[in-house]
Amino acid sequence: MGRMHPLARSLAQRLPPDSLSTAPEDLADRGRDRWSLALLRQLREASPGLPAAVVLPTSTEQVGTVLAWAAETGTPLVARGGGSGVCGGISAGHGWVVLDLSRMDRIVSVDPESQVVTAQAGVRGDRLEAYLAGHGLTVGHYPQSIALSTVGGWVAAASAGQASTGYGAIEDVLLGLTAVLAGGRVVRLRPAPRSAAGPDLRHLLVGSEGTLAVLTEAVLACSPRPPGLDWDGFRFDTFTACLAGLRDMYRTGAGMAVLRGYDEVDSALAFGGIGHAGGCAAVAGFAADLPGLGDRRRVAAERARAAGGTELGPGYGLHWWEHRNDAVDLYHRIMGAERLFGPGVMVDTMEVAGLWGGLPDLYQAVRDGLARHAETVGCHVSHVYRSGSSLYFTFLVRGADDSEVEPRYLAAWREAAAGCLSAGGTITHHHGVGRLKAEFMAGELGAAGLEVLRRVKAAVDPQWILNPGALIPEPLIP
Ligand SMILES: Cc1cc2nc3c(=O)[nH]c(=O)nc-3n(C[C@H](O)[C@H](O)[C@H](O)COP(=O)(O)OP(=O)(O)OC[C@H]3O[C@@H](n4cnc5c(N)ncnc54)[C@H](O)[C@@H]3O)c2cc1C
Repeated sequence: MGRMHPLARSLAQRLPPDSLSTAPEDLADRGRDRWSLALLRQLREASPGLPAAVVLPTSTEQVGTVLAWAAETGTPLVARGGGSGVCGGISAGHGWVVLDLSRMDRIVSVDPESQVVTAQAGVRGDRLEAYLAGHGLTVGHYPQSIALSTVGGWVAAASAGQASTGYGAIEDVLLGLTAVLAGGRVVRLRPAPRSAAGPDLRHLLVGSEGTLAVLTEAVLACSPRPPGLDWDGFRFDTFTACLAGLRDMYRTGAGMAVLRGYDEVDSALAFGGIGHAGGCAAVAGFAADLPGLGDRRRVAAERARAAGGTELGPGYGLHWWEHRNDAVDLYHRIMGAERLFGPGVMVDTMEVAGLWGGLPDLYQAVRDGLARHAETVGCHVSHVYRSGSSLYFTFLVRGADDSEVEPRYLAAWREAAAGCLSAGGTITHHHGVGRLKAEFMAGELGAAGLEVLRRVKAAVDPQWILNPGALIPEPLIP
């Protein structure tokens, strides 16, 4: 503890030895997430000041100790799971504390009868799934970032996995939750399949991005693990026809686990390698052991054909499944130290959602907003619902160098978000808000809605020290 900052020293004294790091590389790396602008600024050495310490608790009790200390000292604090967020949810200011949950990685129990798993917040997704496979179970929550992200981060950032069409998003599998409030009090929300005991406090914490509490343990619903997925693929002439095809296939109730559709640009990017020759591709993946599978696939295919689809066979789906997480490495190579596409290039994704009736206009509005500043814009649908779907845009912005690209990147976001809101969409389907989208929250919720959120924040965190600046734009009256 020799040269430790006095603030860090006073925290370290309350915890077991080796619970805290002030190593400069830990402060720099754990104090941010994978937001492309944060990565760029780190490379340019233009990041805000470093946090005072990274603290690594192993229990809910220790998290309580840290939060009690933060309240006493008035120190701002940000929780960190895997740090895979892409919106600046973690951006620790000078003198803050980063509460890193990676040592809270214990899978507490599996109940085979109820098919539920209890896990500490820092359990990573790939480990959770490997463990559950041994019990013949799966949570069915497979974000592309599964090997980087944690149970607590999924809940805090309102995550949706690639098979959410079949298994639901994180709020659909969340049964129980333990969280620590500012000041250190513990809230335990008992696991239940549903409850009518007032507004659902579990759901108040879904998407709260570390601004209302620190989540330490979750109980998640599991499903029997399928032996694999069987795939169908379809080609549509236009993205509008593809959207109609996805909608009608979903509405058959055929029960696909995965349902995705791509515009022309994204179809070429995703399937050019297997000879895709134009048009919009869609894939549907079904659990291979689903009862009545043949009939289900036949009915879904009929609807796809009625919307103008022609069959592509299983190859597209198999190809997608095999390469579903390749973008994780590619993103790292483009936005990390390697700068694969050279300096001045930024890539990012924007995922919005809307109702079927407004989806073609929403697609156009967001695409136009991005395309005014971006070189390449592609889009796909990856999460399908009865009444609407997500739209996931990937875009590339180029500037003369790493400083010049930044205003272009921000202009792309602002125009696309404005287009999204005026077309009736929600500004985020599953990446959350962070610092990137906080300025759009007034448009998203309206003045009254934003005030509700601010008052909830002020009630549970009156000192406004839990991840200030993320999700909720700074208040007029705290
Ligand atoms: C290449 C790539 C692909 C991705 N694909 C997907 C995808 O398919 N689906 C998807 O939903 N997301 C995806 N993401 C985004 C990200 O992985 C998710 O948002 C994920 O849920 C974040 O989990 P994490 O543990 O890394 O959280 P972090 O990044 O550590 O934190 C996210 C936010 O939650 C807060 N937080 C984290 N843990 C806690 C806690 N225990 N208590 C309170 N607050 C907490 C943080 O303060 C921060 O505001 C992707 C990201 C990348 C880089």
